Amino acid sequence: MNNILYLVLPCYNEEAVLNETASQLLAIMTAMMERGMISNKSKIMFINDGSKDHTWEIIESLHKQNPIFSGVCLSRNKGHQNALLAGLMTAKEYADITISLDADLQDDINIIEKMIVKYQQGNEIVYGVRSARKKDTLFKKTTAKCFYKFMKLLGVDIVFNHADYRLMSKTALKALSQFEEVNLFLRGIVPLIGFQSTTVEYERNKRFAGQSKYPLSKMLAFAFDGITSFSIKPIRMITSLGVLIFLISLIALIVFLILKYTGFTVGGWTSIVASIWMIGGIQLLSLGIIGEYIGKIYNETKRRPRYIISKMILQKEDQTII
Ligand code: UDP
Ligand code: MG
Repeated sequence: MNNILYLVLPCYNEEAVLNETASQLLAIMTAMMERGMISNKSKIMFINDGSKDHTWEIIESLHKQNPIFSGVCLSRNKGHQNALLAGLMTAKEYADITISLDADLQDDINIIEKMIVKYQQGNEIVYGVRSARKKDTLFKKTTAKCFYKFMKLLGVDIVFNHADYRLMSKTALKALSQFEEVNLFLRGIVPLIGFQSTTVEYERNKRFAGQSKYPLSKMLAFAFDGITSFSIKPIRMITSLGVLIFLISLIALIVFLILKYTGFTVGGWTSIVASIWMIGGIQLLSLGIIGEYIGKIYNETKRRPRYIISKMILQKEDQTII
């Protein structure tokens, strides 16, 4: 039996690109269906993320023209990540595999087939990775590179140059559904799931119509969200800074005392300066320690799954219950 594939596309004010996207994807899907690569029950699913233009009307009319197009309409704009999750969680009920991609066709749709082949080879997750960013501006290239490097530095395991263009199997999606966090940063969560995974390279195109919904302010907020949702290293940095300043204060104290007894200071200076340094160090250290506990609470509140079972072998020899 062929696999049911659902393409999941979050859309926010995408009326300018939607019809073109739909026709290009339809061509690819029909070709794959004809070759028996995917099931005829496969769908192209648009998630309308509270658009203010005619995005939803277009999705409705696409569905009327061809039931391969389906739609999910969110009650309001909840942002790309939430819209994507809504789509994936809906699709997981009906699909064997999902591929998430942007509605503006920046992600090269010609690698969809390659992704499916990788899935057939046993991968549960296939990450689309940008090989070159020739078409991105220098600013976007550098900021993106810094972001990935910084995340790695903070101990967050993300796939370099991978956005949200990825194939996920039903198994991987079920595991994803166990992550209940509200601050969603899928690029960080998906690698945590585990399972056999691989990458497929592609070149990212320019958005062919409409405007980017990720201006600099949103990009920064996204990066900040990614860091604070995955790393308590910033808290640890405060603790380290506290220890450092406290140690400096001890050395400074010796220096201040020497200065005092060699007569290089005015009366009262030593005690004031020494206490400023010491108290400062102790305060930072205390903040860091409190932060450690907050970090623990933060990790607990996420209620992330502690393990995910991928396979099980169990022979039930004796099923009698006494
Ligand atoms: N998007 C969304 N909700 C938002 C912002 C964006 O669903 O609040 C969708 C958008 O329609 C597109 C994808 O997320 O399909 C990526 O957005 P965009 O292309 O604007 O980002 P960029 O490629 O410029 O980083
Ligand atoms: Mg885009």
